[in-house]
Amino acid sequence: MRILITNDDGIYSPGIASLAKVAKKFGEVRVVAPDVEQSSMGHAVTHSRPLSYKKSPIEFKDIEAYRVNGTPADCVAMGMHLWSNVDVVLSGINMGPNLGNSMWHSGTLAAAKQAVLFGIKGIALSTPVGKTEPDFESLESYVERTLELLLQDNELALYNVNFPANPTDIVWTRQSVRLYDGTIIPGTDPMGRKHYWFTVSPLEPADEGTDRWAVENDMVSITPLRLDLTHEITLKEKLTEK
Ligand code: MN
Repeated sequence: MRILITNDDGIYSPGIASLAKVAKKFGEVRVVAPDVEQSSMGHAVTHSRPLSYKKSPIEFKDIEAYRVNGTPADCVAMGMHLWSNVDVVLSGINMGPNLGNSMWHSGTLAAAKQAVLFGIKGIALSTPVGKTEPDFESLESYVERTLELLLQDNELALYNVNFPANPTDIVWTRQSVRLYDGTIIPGTDPMGRKHYWFTVSPLEPADEGTDRWAVENDMVSITPLRLDLTHEITLKEKLTEK
């Protein structure tokens, strides 16, 4: 199995090295990732300037790795240009959760979506960051169990996986959809100029069975996703209106 690994935190993130280490147990691994952090870039692609890549050794010397001056979605395209017959794209492990509404902004998930647009399986993997860096070593056994589960067939599929800091189980979930507080918080920079932070937090607690609920309750959340955003009920209504 050919496994292409990318992320949105950049090639030097400890999360991508940890994922590559576990993925090696499942097949051949290559890493193609952004040269700088591209978090919250969503599904942006670079179309107004050329892309380039450079060989870029990571912690595991036996894994070929490249850094690209582009977005996570660009990295998937470049990775599949550099390596034929890729079977699956793994994106992560992101430093920060990608739960509920975050899926709209996530560069991590966008890379997995890009894989599905190219016709191969895409899996996004994320974990929260507290006051200290995530302990990727302690997550390894759950990353391995998750990959065993999701790589056992060849079906075209998109999965969003979130690991709590201390997992106790793995559960299938749905996306938590909550209204944002979505407020702009003003502040002042060291030169006395006004600046602003876009801050986001959910307004209501998470419903049982959702991705956010699972991670809040120390369970690994796997959400199967689809790319078709069509609102089926409304469409049906509109098509039958005379
Ligand atoms: Mn990120």
